[in-house]
Amino acid sequence: ASQSLIKKLEDTIENFSDFPIPGIQFKDISPIFLEPKLYEEVIEDLVRFSKGKIDAVCGIESRGYLFGIAIAVALEVPFILIRKKGKLPPPVISEKYDLEYGTAEIETREGQIKPGQRILIHDDLLATGGTTEAAAKLVQKQGAKVSQFSFLIALKELKGEQKLQRFDAELYHILE
Ligand code: AMP
Repeated sequence: ASQSLIKKLEDTIENFSDFPIPGIQFKDISPIFLEPKLYEEVIEDLVRFSKGKIDAVCGIESRGYLFGIAIAVALEVPFILIRKKGKLPPPVISEKYDLEYGTAEIETREGQIKPGQRILIHDDLLATGGTTEAAAKLVQKQGAKVSQFSFLIALKELKGEQKLQRFDAELYHILE
């Protein structure tokens, strides 16, 4: 990304200490949507990374949809929703993963991801990588290849990138 885009995003995304629980520095991306020109620049940047390299985009609920769908439309490829458990009608493909306390589960409609497709998995933010890793497993279960990951923000200290290395996919983020 250009230095000017990085700077604008840093000035726009808001940081909140100890939200929603103590010890977490929460990144609120919602101010980006108050500035349509900035939103457009973010999409252009993410589209440039994926252009010509993917056959479909998988977006992770819910903030992964805000950018993922625009990337898919710009590249004229399908967009597939990866949702929290219980939101999609059957048949679904599911994947469980560990949270700091307990477990969670994500799902996608069976058959929307096609075997052999090169998939971009997109989310707003990479933290521990648990959610994205589960999404990548869902993609593989459908016989597709995880070709790329993209995020607005990757929090380096949580080592999410290491967790995703074994998928042998390109990884891109605008901010750290
Ligand atoms: P993880 O599975 O740990 O990589 O968490 C990623 C998911 O949690 C993403 O969908 C993020 O939207 C959300 N998330 C995790 N940490 C933060 C944070 N510090 N600020 C905002 N969202 C976060």
